[in-house]
Amino acid sequence: MFTSINPFTQETIAEYTPHTQAEIEQKLQRGERAYRQLLETPLEQRRQWMMQVASSLRKNATAHATLITQEMGKTLKEAKAEVLKCASSAEYFAEHIAEMLEPRPIQSDAYKSYVSYEPKGIILAIMPWNFPYWQVFRFAIPNILAGNTGLLKHASNVSGCSLAIEQVFMESGFPEGTFQSLLVSSKDLEPIVADPRIQGVTLTGSTPAGKSVAALAGKYLKKTVLELGGSDPFIVLKDADLEAAAKTAVQGRMQNAGQSCIAAKRWIVEKEIVPAFTAEVRRLLENMQQGDPMQDTTSMGPMARTDLAEDLDRQLQESISQGARLELGGTYEGCNFAPTLLTGVTNDMTAFKEETFGPLAVIIEAANEDEAIALANETDFGLGSALWTSDLDKAAHLATRIESGNVFINAMVRSDARLPFGGVKQSGYGRELSLEGTHEFLNVKTVYIQ
Ligand code: NAP
Repeated sequence: MFTSINPFTQETIAEYTPHTQAEIEQKLQRGERAYRQLLETPLEQRRQWMMQVASSLRKNATAHATLITQEMGKTLKEAKAEVLKCASSAEYFAEHIAEMLEPRPIQSDAYKSYVSYEPKGIILAIMPWNFPYWQVFRFAIPNILAGNTGLLKHASNVSGCSLAIEQVFMESGFPEGTFQSLLVSSKDLEPIVADPRIQGVTLTGSTPAGKSVAALAGKYLKKTVLELGGSDPFIVLKDADLEAAAKTAVQGRMQNAGQSCIAAKRWIVEKEIVPAFTAEVRRLLENMQQGDPMQDTTSMGPMARTDLAEDLDRQLQESISQGARLELGGTYEGCNFAPTLLTGVTNDMTAFKEETFGPLAVIIEAANEDEAIALANETDFGLGSALWTSDLDKAAHLATRIESGNVFINAMVRSDARLPFGGVKQSGYGRELSLEGTHEFLNVKTVYIQ
């Protein structure tokens, strides 16, 4: 059984029975049939159905958001924003998909040669609970518009979200089987990955899960896109707008109770401004309202599961015993972890070396900008990064030295339908969103006419 537990109240919301072998086979058949139907459907029709998905999400945003909040604990405000981001991204791709799929002419020895972008079939998506709608939609929207179909194995604690998303696609006009939810355990995925109807596997989740799925997909020669963990640096140089940097650092670290792959997990601050920066972030953190995520006045909800809070506490206690100073917070009860600030963090401490997936902010002092960049890169991860300075020429130069899939200058790292998103190093490979993400699971077919 998959059990959904409200992390704030610890009440069991619902239990879901896993799909049987026969049900899984039925879903594969439907997914394949829907793919064949989509091949015969004009792009204009698929665009209209996707606009219907967007309007359905907008119309029922509060109901979807409530489900998200109940299953994984983010505030209702954050959950609503997530649902609306899915809707606006569906609209964006519906508007731009034709140009993304436009065949690309290439001059060669042929009379005519070009690249054609064609769908391949069913893509298996393995997704996490932290943005239970956005992670799914950012894969599904461009793929389905391009003619692929989707089979979703969602995280076990958000089965309600998984089924609700399936319903949205079902009611928006797409052929039955275009997008289906699969209630299966991660240990039962091998026969599904192996099935010849599955043309690719995309996983958003932790680095260990990524390695395991990549190995499995490799065994059956299936293409993968891996969006994995991160330990993003948030670099503040001494010429930065300190107030704006502090506000964004707190927002970037604490949104979603710190459970975001692109959270600002390591604040690397030039030493001259460490005291002023610490005072400002401390003031902001003290003003945060942690509590019931359904309340409008709450700025941070609980973490999603008790085991996640326990693991964050282990990382906190280890870092303190290694010499970090606890400035604020540091306590938790159940899933409710107080916004916490550590200073004096160095590169040999747990909070620096491991991904911290919760409301734990850390300040790392850098002697100068060279050391700041070296510290930023001293990690196995390479997802996002932020750099704060008032010298934009310097920023552009330093951005080339940071090992990550994106660099945001004087801004918070975020995903955006218009921009490619993904990582390097242990944060994975491949891209989602934008043109690059749309093409990942397409057959990039060369056509040569003599
Ligand atoms: P997780 O434990 O890796 O789970 C993610 C998904 O993978 C779930 O559906 C999970 O299913 C499944 N899974 C886990 N182990 C698996 C295995 N060995 N084989 C096949 N499937 C497996 O991650 P999480 O705790 O849900 O999410 C947090 C992690 O995701 C963090 O590291 C975060 O940084 C990362 N993340 C990355 C991005 C990005 O875009 N790069 C975005 C969001 C989150 P079960 O629930 O059934 O175990």
